[in-house]
Amino acid sequence: MNSFRIAIVGAGPAGYFAAQALQNLQTDDKKFAIDMFEKLPTPWGLVRSGVAPDHPKIKSVSKVFEKIATSENFRLFANVQLGRDIQLAELTDSYDAVVLAVGASKGKKLGIPGEELVGSVSAADFVPWYNGHPDFADLKMQLATDTAVVIGAGNVAMDVARMLALNPDELDPTDTAMPALEALHNSQIRTVQLCARRGPEHVAFTSPELRELPKLEHTTVLISELEISRAIERLETLPEPDSDAKNNLLAMLAIAQEKKPQQDRTLEFHFLLTPKEIRGADRVEEVVFTVNEVHGDSVVATDETYSIKCGLVISAIGYETDLSVELDIDKGRIKNQDGLIKDNLYVVGWAKRGPSGVIGTNKSDSTEVMKLLAEKLVKAKDPVDFKEVLDAREINYFSQQDWEKINQTEVEAGENLGKPRLKIVSHEEFLEVKNA
Ligand code: NAP
Repeated sequence: MNSFRIAIVGAGPAGYFAAQALQNLQTDDKKFAIDMFEKLPTPWGLVRSGVAPDHPKIKSVSKVFEKIATSENFRLFANVQLGRDIQLAELTDSYDAVVLAVGASKGKKLGIPGEELVGSVSAADFVPWYNGHPDFADLKMQLATDTAVVIGAGNVAMDVARMLALNPDELDPTDTAMPALEALHNSQIRTVQLCARRGPEHVAFTSPELRELPKLEHTTVLISELEISRAIERLETLPEPDSDAKNNLLAMLAIAQEKKPQQDRTLEFHFLLTPKEIRGADRVEEVVFTVNEVHGDSVVATDETYSIKCGLVISAIGYETDLSVELDIDKGRIKNQDGLIKDNLYVVGWAKRGPSGVIGTNKSDSTEVMKLLAEKLVKAKDPVDFKEVLDAREINYFSQQDWEKINQTEVEAGENLGKPRLKIVSHEEFLEVKNA
């Protein structure tokens, strides 16, 4: 019987689903002992620091993660950073295989003038801020403005726009990080302008997310019925109209036709606007867009521009892998062939395929890569116990038991406030709870 030792770097959905796949692939002759390394003191990746707090059902997948983590031969070493506390080469030397599940945490840049002005922020900062990621919790967001512009037409742009446009009372019973919740309560933003560079038929939103917008109690959602009707006409002239696009258009048409009394908060959708410049003396004052048109299959720029006055711009235009180790990056992800990087090094999740798909997408994706990994393993290496390595280096790692203590502390603190949990948002407090 061979017992193979596998290191998984990154405790997000792709990492857990890789661990689960390995657990399921075990046979009487082939066992897997898994060590999962995570740079934060807490696991769950985007389920903790990405999923919007008003989408608690999506977070219930954490129960699956905890089942995986409490299975035999699984160890968590959180608060351990690759490239700082441990090196990739020592992992590949010590383990039979290493799986990088490091995600894609760097926001893509617009690459336009004014992007660096105060008040211009990436969703890659804004989302972890409201979710209590300890590296972002202290950010000062520019919320003392009437209008915010959100650039992008994917589900992250939708989350960001919704979080800014809803009445923060709706977030009180959620696990929104307290510093962000307080700031949102004091926010002066009353209008959120979401701007897509292509037509309504091209948006990357998914229709369930669109269909929940009318449920916002205190926000009027504005979409031009004329623009949606034109997009439906355009879609119907195509030889093979995309069914997702059709579902999206029907969801947007329902919003456009909704008769709801004007609320004091507005979320407005704009289409066919490519950001050209962010203007302002020392902070954001205006975003200027090039107006586009749809010609057949393509979207083309016109000579016209359109401008929106605002004090906050959030770009939600996709992510790239942010690596602390030297590996080849191609189009924002680690260069790989079906998940194999080289030798005994693999990659799963957003770091493998780019920032696409929902959390569940990682299950099938990680499973395929782990099948490849398991097939290639023949003889186990001599074991090296990385716990001893970390202890010798006096690295203050958080074990599964430490995490369970933090989890319980957060959940208990939340109970009194009618929240699923009260998130700890500072590295110091994580250590205090661990050492208590
Ligand atoms: P995404 O779905 O790829 O959307 C990116 C958006 O940014 C697209 O609309 C894209 O427009 C636009 N864009 C890219 N470059 C741009 C530029 N230079 N200027 C203006 N717009 C630009 O990415 P995402 O929203 O970051 O989401 C990532 C993944 O997470 C997606 O699979 C998403 O569904 C998933 N997610 C799911 C949920 C949920 O299930 N509730 C929530 C959040 C995220 P073009 O199409 O024109 O390129």
